[in-house]
Amino acid sequence: MKYISTRGEAPPLPFLAMLLAGLAPDGGLYLPDTYPQFTRDMIAGFAGRPYSEAAGAVLLPFLGGEIGTPVFRRMIEAANKKFRHKAIAPLVQLDSDLFVLELFHGPTLAFKDFAMQLLAPLMDHALKTRGERATIIGATSGDTGAAAIEAFGGLSQTDVFILFPHGRISEVQRRQMTTARFPNVHTIALQGTFDDAQTSIKTMFGNNVLRAELNLCGVNSINLARIIFQTVYYFTSAAALGAPHRPVSFVVPTGNFGNIFAGWMAKRMGLPIGRLVIAANSNDILARALAEGSYELQPVRATQSPSMDIQISSNFERQLFEAYGRDGRALCGLMEGLRQAKGFRIAPGPLETIRAEFDAFRATEEETSQAILRYRREAGYLADPHTAVGLSAASKAKEQKGGSIQVVLATAHPAKFPAAIESSAGVRPSLPPHLEGLFEKDENYEVLPNDQSEIERFIRSRSRALNGRNQAVAL
Ligand SMILES: *Cc1c(COP(=O)(O)O)cnc(C)c1O
Repeated sequence: MKYISTRGEAPPLPFLAMLLAGLAPDGGLYLPDTYPQFTRDMIAGFAGRPYSEAAGAVLLPFLGGEIGTPVFRRMIEAANKKFRHKAIAPLVQLDSDLFVLELFHGPTLAFKDFAMQLLAPLMDHALKTRGERATIIGATSGDTGAAAIEAFGGLSQTDVFILFPHGRISEVQRRQMTTARFPNVHTIALQGTFDDAQTSIKTMFGNNVLRAELNLCGVNSINLARIIFQTVYYFTSAAALGAPHRPVSFVVPTGNFGNIFAGWMAKRMGLPIGRLVIAANSNDILARALAEGSYELQPVRATQSPSMDIQISSNFERQLFEAYGRDGRALCGLMEGLRQAKGFRIAPGPLETIRAEFDAFRATEEETSQAILRYRREAGYLADPHTAVGLSAASKAKEQKGGSIQVVLATAHPAKFPAAIESSAGVRPSLPPHLEGLFEKDENYEVLPNDQSEIERFIRSRSRALNGRNQAVAL
């Protein structure tokens, strides 16, 4: 198995090199050259089996033999031990034909843990094998940073630097990052917005000298490995609900289009999926793109589902590449249009291809609050605001299109967003036991001005990757 770039100008890479590279050198995103195939019998066989078994079966073909099967299975077991629910990704029924798939039982209460808990040990393993250290840099608007810190904290080959916008994330989200005590983790409160943090990271990746000097690695969802790991719960949940004999539709609260793209991959791997429903908040670029055939950037709006407050859905590039018949030249043209004119039109053929599999529905702030209240009343279920966007989209999809069993992905635990829940449903969700005491712990973070050279100076002064290659120094 090799991994190719959506821009068609980067050499294909095997799994571990792709994992460490993150972004392809031509600016594109990696995709597998072919999708592993699963038969109906194999899929039916996942029903009633432990999550780790399905994870091994689904993921091993992607590794191309670069990691020994027993080693990888041990990584899966270790990752699963961090989850607080034995089913790892349990289903909860809210109506006769409506289920939620709870993806928030990991250590940091959002679905980001699924990918990060495997990405970290795999990167560590690959770097050890090569005798290298790496510097992990990431910007976070909430959930990615905590998941990365929890997963990479204490590992020997990496130093982690997470930038978050000072004063612009929830207290639970901030404390999950700043109370972690690991010598290789550095949390930076940037005096700026999330966009400033993201721009700073991109500038560092665009600086070839710095990139090589610090051996920079990225952990956001442009890293295909993260998306691959997320295909597993589509298989396990669909099989539990009767796949392959009964097709299931998935409704996915969407920001960067990473999670729902994992669903599309599962479908390409043989899983019968009815519809893939994009659930958007007021930042509805994808809903507009599907309706109008034109992908146009607009200013980001702050909502009660902040992890979806995203302007550019980076991973949509992967779907476009597939819809354009894997034409890297065409993708270069579209992305150039995005850079220069802040938008592009999707050609009629590719647009039809995308519409054949995806629907998109938007939930306003009011509709999100109503969904929280409604399912609290009707089913005794407390959904977080991101999941509520999904629940709202699910009822619209059902009204307009009818159809099969719906599974809404519950992407975060309600306790991560207590203020939003309280104002919609009048109850304050409590933190799960393993996070009790979060508000009493000491915080530790560096406040930096929004100044690129200061940020870089800080990272260079603390990264052990700098001139530290090939030294096996343990923490
Ligand atoms: C990251 C995130 C999303 C968006 O997922 P994408 O893969 O970026 O589409 C939705 N909900 C929550 C809670 C998240 O943390």
